[in-house]
Amino acid sequence: IAAISLLSEAVLEGADEPEVVRNFAKKLRKESRRLGDLSRDIIQLSEAQTTLPADERESVALRAVVRTEVEAHQEFAAQQGISIALTEDPALPTELITLGRPSSIGTVIANLLTNAIRHSPEGSSVGVGIDVDGGDCRITVTDQGDGIPADHLPRIFERFYRVDNARSREGGGTGLGLSIARHTMRAHGGDIAVWSQEGVGSSFTLTFPLAEEATTAKDRKRLAR
Ligand code: ADP
Repeated sequence: IAAISLLSEAVLEGADEPEVVRNFAKKLRKESRRLGDLSRDIIQLSEAQTTLPADERESVALRAVVRTEVEAHQEFAAQQGISIALTEDPALPTELITLGRPSSIGTVIANLLTNAIRHSPEGSSVGVGIDVDGGDCRITVTDQGDGIPADHLPRIFERFYRVDNARSREGGGTGLGLSIARHTMRAHGGDIAVWSQEGVGSSFTLTFPLAEEATTAKDRKRLAR
């Protein structure tokens, strides 16, 4: 906020010099985007930290959510020269249902994809896999990126924890993405795990409990409307 305030002062002072205005306006745009991202992530974190009441749970079709997020990230990946490959075992049931908040689950997958793309070298591939293990659905996002040093690994799910600002391609995010992911997974009765090796890549695994009863009170209300 302080940076935005100072930059707007500078624009006012340099108002007669188009080059100066252009230069400060670019910085203003960058700072306001950062502030926008931070506000969005703080709201998402506070939502993820509240327990989801049973009557707020909807059935969430996990395969569909994953496909939507992969599709939504294809362009961002392509801009960085990275491809995303989705692997779905043909033997899987047509739909894998968990109970929860669809938008929150979409956000978790989006955060993992954004991180994987940001940390991947040009020309590499990000893999997304879906499979079933007993009563759980497992979703993995794997990259061939720079990896996370072992001494940082236990801390990456903490709020605002970032390994090294200089390493991510775009200057990076807010440091809240994985914290939002972990809180959301736990609120859904699931969890998130990470495997990573420097110079080899990283793999994040989400585990969701599969629903036995595929319709909730909230689904019925929605259908009745
Ligand atoms: P950020 O907004 O910085 O991405 P996150 O909470 O999503 O915050 O991630 C925390 C830190 O974990 C990142 O700053 C980065 O250093 C590291 N990290 C997360 N995902 C990856 C990945 N796929 N490859 C390498 N490092 C990662």
